[in-house]
Amino acid sequence: MDAKLMLARLKQAQQICTYINMKVAKGDFAAAAHMARNFIVILTQVGMPDLLREAEAIINQLNQGDAQVTIKVAKFSQTLEVKIAEQTPRVHLANEVKCPHCHADILEGSKFCGQCGKQLTS
Ligand SMILES: [Zn+2]
Repeated sequence: MDAKLMLARLKQAQQICTYINMKVAKGDFAAAAHMARNFIVILTQVGMPDLLREAEAIINQLNQGDAQVTIKVAKFSQTLEVKIAEQTPRVHLANEVKCPHCHADILEGSKFCGQCGKQLTS
C-alpha cells in the first residue's frame, strides 16, 4: 500500500474512534460496534496486526455494552495519532519529485523541469 493511502486510512480509523465514543455516550452500542467493524477492514489493509488485536478487544467490549470502552477507544485513537505522525514524513518523501537531469525539486505533475527546462518523462 502506498504511503499516502495508508495515511488516509489511519486518519479514517481515527475519525471512527470519535464516532464510536459519540455513539457510546448516547448508549447506542449497536451503532458503535457496527462502526468499529470498519477497524478490522482498515487495519488489515494497512497491515498492523498489533492494532488489529486492540480493535477486536474494543468490538468485544462494545458487544457487551460496556461504557468503559471509551477509555480503550481514546487510547486507541492516541496510538493511531502516533502512527499517523510516523507515516506523515514518509508521504512527503514519496511525493518528493526530482528532475532526473539536474536533480532540482520539481512540482508533481510537471511536464518540464523549472530549473533546467528539460522534459520530464516518468
Ligand atoms: Zn532539471
